[in-house]
Amino acid sequence: MPDMVELIRAKREGRRLADGEIRWLIDAYTGGAVADEQMSALLMAICFRGLDPAELRAWTAAMIESGERLDLSAVPAPTVDKHSTGGVGDKVSLVLAPLVASCGAAVPQLSGRGLGHTGGTLDKLESIPGWRAELTNAEMISVLSSAGCVICAAGQGLAPADRKLYALRDVTGTVESIPLIASSIMSKKIAEGTAALVLDVKVGSGAFMPDIDQARLLAQTMVTLGEEHGVRTTALLTRMDTPLGRAVGNAVEVEEAVATLAGAGPPDLAEVTLALAAEMLALAGLPTGLPAGPADAAPGPAGPAAALADAAPGPAGPAAALADGRALDRYRAMIRAQHGDPDAPLPQAAHTDVVAAPEAGWLRRLDARAVGVAAWRLGAGRARKEDLVSPAAGVICLAKPGDRVERGQPLLELRGDAGSRCTAAREALAGAFEIGPRAPDIGPLILERIPAAADGSRQLPG
Ligand code: URA
Repeated sequence: MPDMVELIRAKREGRRLADGEIRWLIDAYTGGAVADEQMSALLMAICFRGLDPAELRAWTAAMIESGERLDLSAVPAPTVDKHSTGGVGDKVSLVLAPLVASCGAAVPQLSGRGLGHTGGTLDKLESIPGWRAELTNAEMISVLSSAGCVICAAGQGLAPADRKLYALRDVTGTVESIPLIASSIMSKKIAEGTAALVLDVKVGSGAFMPDIDQARLLAQTMVTLGEEHGVRTTALLTRMDTPLGRAVGNAVEVEEAVATLAGAGPPDLAEVTLALAAEMLALAGLPTGLPAGPADAAPGPAGPAAALADAAPGPAGPAAALADGRALDRYRAMIRAQHGDPDAPLPQAAHTDVVAAPEAGWLRRLDARAVGVAAWRLGAGRARKEDLVSPAAGVICLAKPGDRVERGQPLLELRGDAGSRCTAAREALAGAFEIGPRAPDIGPLILERIPAAADGSRQLPG
């Protein structure tokens, strides 16, 4: 049996761990035979020393094997999921899952709750009266088969090693490590049983990875892990320096998602959603509505991604499904199948306040992180896992970068359950925006595309 202290020392000195040692330590930690303080020390050593490709492969496989792997073979459509690394106003899943389902794929989306300044998909949907996030595996497969999509909480049996490790990383300053993040995300997605996966890796102030080089490395690492486990995987790097859409919160994001499903959503949200939908449909072998090519193009920066975003969608693709109401029908079916009432009024906040433009000019910057923190202080997010969130709290961005504004014009609407929350949110917004005499250059939303290697031969970044 390996000696845990020796393994910690080995990693601290930069020695690679053998597959058997990794399997043992993940099993022993999940089963309670390795103490939290020892695993914390090892995780910190990994933050400094990293894991090489073989170690990462073994680490991820051990996390998957710590629990069950769902069998979705009875689902009567090709399965494809999406994972976002999280952003401010990121309600893409609420639109994307039913949209892709309406184009013929099955979307099994196991999601999480929010922590910190980025929101959680389950928290948003829980603002719908009656809607249930907790489903048994059989219920999940039944909703997936009938509605074509399901968004629910991951069951306790799925990658239990990650649940324990993630909670420990959260309190030991060991979240920010590319191999630990990649293995955490991919172990859950691979165990979920999806045949294909598209990753939306956010880049910018509101993202987990503000730096594009780090985001690219994370995306490449996850794409390779997916391929190694037989899950066809691609990634888009998308910009997250300002909130996506206008609504940031829970019920307010559901409202905006429904408007987008009805063809009346904000253009940035529609653009990111349609680009991800095209990637998912291509992986599922279904028509994307785009001219042939981009989704199969060779790796490279902005070029293919720009082509994907700019191409005019054809009638068979997701844009048509948004325009003719098919995607909205799927959304309503999914909400009903999970005991929610899609027609019920959503909770409204007791207090509202506005932040007005101090001068006239062009809104040049509206910082995603600051808006996310303001929404969080208003009650839309939680500081600790056990906190409750307010369904009605949030921020509405009444102006976005690139808009011309007049002095005194409302820029942001703050919604909260108590006036004191609005005061705390205002403080978070100090320095959050910039108004200037010239219109800003707004760069592309879809920054890069990281495709699967055509022959599955990509090597994990060393
Ligand atoms: N999300 C996860 O699921 N795991 C991480 O490590 C970071 C973000």
